[in-house]
Amino acid sequence: MAEGIEAVVLRTLRYGEADLIAHLLTRHGGRRGVIAKGARKPKSRLGARLEPFLAVSLQLVESRGDLDIVRGVEVLAAHDALRSSWRSQQLGAAALDLVTRLSVEHEPNEQMFHLLRNFLDLLDSTAARTPVEAIEDERRGAVLLAAFQLKLLHVVGIAPQLGACVRCGAASPLAAYSARDGGVICSGCRTAEDQTLDAPTHAAAVTLMRSPLAELVTRAAEDLPEMRVLRTVGSGIVAATAQEHAGIRPR
Ligand SMILES: [Zn+2]
Repeated sequence: MAEGIEAVVLRTLRYGEADLIAHLLTRHGGRRGVIAKGARKPKSRLGARLEPFLAVSLQLVESRGDLDIVRGVEVLAAHDALRSSWRSQQLGAAALDLVTRLSVEHEPNEQMFHLLRNFLDLLDSTAARTPVEAIEDERRGAVLLAAFQLKLLHVVGIAPQLGACVRCGAASPLAAYSARDGGVICSGCRTAEDQTLDAPTHAAAVTLMRSPLAELVTRAAEDLPEMRVLRTVGSGIVAATAQEHAGIRPR
C-alpha cells in the first residue's frame, strides 16, 4: 500500500446522499479537501475516522473532480479526552478555525502542521488529566490556546514584534500595540490610533510567545496569566493582528 497522507481533520461537511467532505491540514501539502464516498452509510468505516480533531493517515485515489477520494483512513491520534470535554472542544474549535483561515490551500506549511498536532495532543492530555472542569483548568486551557495562536501568527509570518518599539527601537516604556505596524509602541511614539497595552498583557504575550506549549500546561497555576490578561492578548494582539494582516477575524 502507498504511504499514507498525514493530516489533521479541520472540519467535515455532509455531501449528497451519503458522502462526506473533509477539510484537512496535511503535513506536506497544506490545507486541502477530500471526499469519502458512502462515509455516512451505517456500514462505512470511514465516517467515524473523519471527525474534527483527529490526526489521521489517509489513502487517497485521484479523481477527475476537484477532490481526491478517500480509500482508507488510519487514526493516528483520536484525542478522545479532548472530544469528550465541552470546554476543550471550544478551545480546539477556535484553534482549528484560525488554522483554517490562516492556511493556504495546497501551500505546504509543515511547521503549522506540527504546531497544530502538538497543541491538540497537549489539549487532549490536559483534558484527560482533569475530568472535573475546574476554574484553574479553564485558565490553563486559555493559556494554551493563546500561546498556540501567537505561535501560529509566527509560522504564517505575521508574528507581533514584542521586544522593542517598532517605530523607534526603544525598549521602554512600552505603552501600546499597533496591529498595523505589527508590534509594540513606546510612550513617545504612541498615537491616538494605537491600542493601549498594559504591562501584564505585554509580559504575558512575551511569555506565551517564548514558552514551549508543553511547559505552559505543567506550569504552576499561580504563574499563569489572569483570564483578563489572556482575553486582552486574544482580542488586542492575536485578533487585531490576524485581521490587519490576513483579513480575518478569529472567533
Ligand atoms: Zn518608539
